[in-house]
Amino acid sequence: MPLFDSILDTVGRTPIVKLHRLAPKHVSLYVKVESFNPGGSVKDRLALAVVLDAEAKGLLKPGDTIAECTSGNVGIALAMVAAARGYKFVAVMSDSYSIERRKLIRAYGGKVILFPAELGSSGGNKIADELAAKHGWFRARQFDNPANPAYHRETTAAEILSDFAGKRLDYFVTGFGTTGTLTGVGQMLKLARPSVRVVAAEPANAAVLAGKAWSVHQIQGWAPDFVPSVLDATVIDELRPIDEVVGRNTARRLAAEEGIFAGISAGATVATALDVAQNAAEGSVILAMLPDTGERYLSTFLLEGMNEGSDDEWLAGLSASEALLSPA
Ligand code: PMP
Repeated sequence: MPLFDSILDTVGRTPIVKLHRLAPKHVSLYVKVESFNPGGSVKDRLALAVVLDAEAKGLLKPGDTIAECTSGNVGIALAMVAAARGYKFVAVMSDSYSIERRKLIRAYGGKVILFPAELGSSGGNKIADELAAKHGWFRARQFDNPANPAYHRETTAAEILSDFAGKRLDYFVTGFGTTGTLTGVGQMLKLARPSVRVVAAEPANAAVLAGKAWSVHQIQGWAPDFVPSVLDATVIDELRPIDEVVGRNTARRLAAEEGIFAGISAGATVATALDVAQNAAEGSVILAMLPDTGERYLSTFLLEGMNEGSDDEWLAGLSASEALLSPA
């Protein structure tokens, strides 16, 4: 390892790891574990891309404020990048997102403005636009900023192409929020590995790309209530709906059976990859994106119903444990 000059120099180059228990035997299922980024999610890439691009264009100067409507991970990533490069940061966030996300942004020195989930991302973006216009803040505009898919072409896609160079790869499975990952990786795969099928997953209860109605869903970071302008829909070979509870349960299995604690959207992506695997040819190789760490969802339905006390079932009958088991 080199000695790094900045925490931002550690963004990207995330590991691709094989799953050993979740996948059926006739396929190989790999996951790209984006929680290895310093801010814990794939959005570190976007935050760094947008800030470097704005600096290069002279749109940001030291001490400026960056504002963004964010599902949380972008907020955490932008707060981290802002802290490391000397900017201020304000997140405009739906009140349906987890408490952990608000606290992390504040830990990195950022501010958080909440809006009701029913307004959707489009409502939140309006609030962020007005605030930025009033105070002269820089808007990251993750849903429209071409620096977003560009950075995924240059980093995420380049890493995948390099790691799978000379190796079989049949399917790339990802969900989408801004569609930066899907568009950037999809475009490079179409150029460099056109035989790879690009599968895009969306929540069954907010399957906007499939033409269904959007509703408030629990796969944080996925499926805004509009189609982002950075989307290049030509990269999508297959669109698949996934149930959010199935996604949540798969995230739990990833942690308990593979030792990879990832977020709800990661679980939903792997659940989609398992659907793809069902009809995939013998020997197929599938790669699924895991956008973030499960630690971002400790207070959400990801861990709902989990015991917070002691697991006492083995204590009965032990003399040393009588005091522990005696009724209060
Ligand atoms: N999962 C999570 C948890 C996210 O925060 C995001 C980004 N909003 C995504 C998936 C989707 O990534 P992208 O914006 O590149 O489509």
